[in-house]
Amino acid sequence: MITTPRRGAPAPLAGDPIPAIGYVRVSKAREEMISPELQREAIREWARRNGRLVLDVVEDTDVSGRHWNRRIMGVIARIEAGEAREGIVWKYSRFGRDRTGCALNLGRINRAGGELVSATEEVDASTAVGRMTRGMLMEIAAFESDRMAEIWAETWAWRIEHGLPPRGGPRIGYRILGRLPNPLGGGTVRDPNTTEVYVPDESSPATELLPHLYEAYVTGGGGFRYGAQLLNEAGVTTTRGKPWTHTAVRRMMDAGFAAGFIHVHDPACTGPHDPTRRRACPNRIHLPGAHEALIGIDLWEAYRERRAAVAAMPRGTRAAEHLYTGTIWCGHCGARHSGAARRYGVRYSCSRYTESGGCAPRSIGEDRITPIVLDMISAYADRIDAEARRITPTVDVGHRVDQVAELTRERDRLDARLDRLLDRLADDTIGREEYQRARERTLAERARVEAELAQAEARAAERREVADRIHVARSLLDEWDTLALPHRRELVRILVDRITVYRQSRNEAHIVVTLADGTTREVDVSTDWDAVAARARAGWQRVAAARRAARG
Ligand SMILES: [Zn+2]
Ligand SMILES: [Zn+2]
Repeated sequence: MITTPRRGAPAPLAGDPIPAIGYVRVSKAREEMISPELQREAIREWARRNGRLVLDVVEDTDVSGRHWNRRIMGVIARIEAGEAREGIVWKYSRFGRDRTGCALNLGRINRAGGELVSATEEVDASTAVGRMTRGMLMEIAAFESDRMAEIWAETWAWRIEHGLPPRGGPRIGYRILGRLPNPLGGGTVRDPNTTEVYVPDESSPATELLPHLYEAYVTGGGGFRYGAQLLNEAGVTTTRGKPWTHTAVRRMMDAGFAAGFIHVHDPACTGPHDPTRRRACPNRIHLPGAHEALIGIDLWEAYRERRAAVAAMPRGTRAAEHLYTGTIWCGHCGARHSGAARRYGVRYSCSRYTESGGCAPRSIGEDRITPIVLDMISAYADRIDAEARRITPTVDVGHRVDQVAELTRERDRLDARLDRLLDRLADDTIGREEYQRARERTLAERARVEAELAQAEARAAERREVADRIHVARSLLDEWDTLALPHRRELVRILVDRITVYRQSRNEAHIVVTLADGTTREVDVSTDWDAVAARARAGWQRVAAARRAARG
């Protein structure tokens, strides 16, 4: 970097606060996440800590984009005139509309002998490395925004225009030609010498199964569960290598790739989302793909009609929410256990089995789980009672809550004092040395108050949390029989982290229960069903014998 003779403001004496102007930029167009208040606060806080005298904070709001440069030019002009020595921004990338703007504006400030500092990026611009870092920070921000807005949208548009699914990746029943393994790492890249194309994969059973699945759905011969079962039995996995579930089959069939379509976010969508988040937008349309279809257009239309008709039907008995729904899991395959009401109470079974025939028919009765859960929660309540007595000694709670408020007021008072000191220095009502001494004293005191405040807040939060936990545990234990199911389930979900079921055979099973505080218990819940059946038979035989004796 070439050093240029500097004009403008004279160099400050050591210890003098450096006069600076804050600059806040807000872009309405880009759905700004960082509010101007936050940027303003960060700039003032940085200035306070680093001995800068903030003359003014200038705010630019980019609504039309046309008036933008006027205010930033005002900041630069004031630095050139020697009124201030520094511009403070929230981030370096805020100092212009784009990479050229940032660099030009920074150049003008430097030529005037001024400097640009960032409240959130620690860079020492007096060194060559620091200046390069600052340049790179600006460059990276510009690159990020370019990449998101332009290159990304271009790729997207190009692929749709050429009938390719925008995100690429494998499709069931197809293989992809025209892609090469990525030489720089995972995934693939387009082969520059040929065109990317999806072709039916004749070696996969899916090419024959898919037409059958659409037909079965249309004729009522079988739905998505049936489809999942067929695909899994044929050894076809999802594109992620997992077994099919009925939801995965529904999503795949609805997307209609096998009917020759690509299913994409509507390019005309005016939804309030930025380009990188449109995957979550439900506004999708079917566009013609470049690939060969596995099913005819008539079958596809019939499928769409029937899907719409089924979706319009009133929902019958939906999968019910039971007490441990969402808390209980299969220890063998990691899937959820789903509950079903039986004559003798609720039974939970591995959902991988009930939905796709995977895993194995593993189930357990709710009546085997509840005594264990209640016993653990009772022990847990005793433990936190003891803990509560430990952290709340004889001092009354009211006094301690006040302590937080008191320390907060104290800190605010010290901040106000720092501001006043700067004002008085600016007004020349105190000397520089006196200012420095008072400032250091105040900062030291502020640090002490801040530390005490943090401790007081932590203690208060801990007490509140323990009180909540005691309340939850006690209500669950006291009112287990009277609470309505949704309420009971809510409390169980707060207290119980996870119930894992291991069923090795019809007779052998054990469960592992983990509470929210991490305590874990493993309990054998095996039942010798043959012995149970034998006991029942013996009982009936005794009754029958007694009846015979009474008649005879
Ligand atoms: Zn959208
Ligand atoms: Zn399982």
